Amino acid sequence: MKLLDFAKHFDSEEACEKYLKETREKEGIKCSRCGCEKQYWNRCHKRWMCAKCGHETTLRSGTVMHGSNLPLLYWFTAIHLLTSTKKTFSAAEMQRQLGHKRYQPIWEMMHKLRSVWASATQSTILKVQ
Ligand SMILES: [Zn+2]
Repeated sequence: MKLLDFAKHFDSEEACEKYLKETREKEGIKCSRCGCEKQYWNRCHKRWMCAKCGHETTLRSGTVMHGSNLPLLYWFTAIHLLTSTKKTFSAAEMQRQLGHKRYQPIWEMMHKLRSVWASATQSTILKVQ
């Protein structure tokens, strides 16, 4: 996907959430507690709830984005830049591109991405690890 198409497609946090939700549902959501695959989507809380045990699965849980407070848009943009240009970006450069104030969270994001992205593509990075 070209950068312009990417920007058009993922123009908001909501667009990223929608993509992540659809991608994960296509794969099938499985409860990490009981293994049940019947999940109800809770639109207010933006997470799935297990039909059997009530365990919640968030959009990010099990993915590389788990535990991060950064917007999905940051992750999607970083992943796109990394996978489409095949270049390495320093955390400082990524911070500049994203226009984020603090260095530390961006560094952490890049560190996590580097740990998974070696053999991955955009779609596989977004998948559950
Ligand atoms: Zn369950």
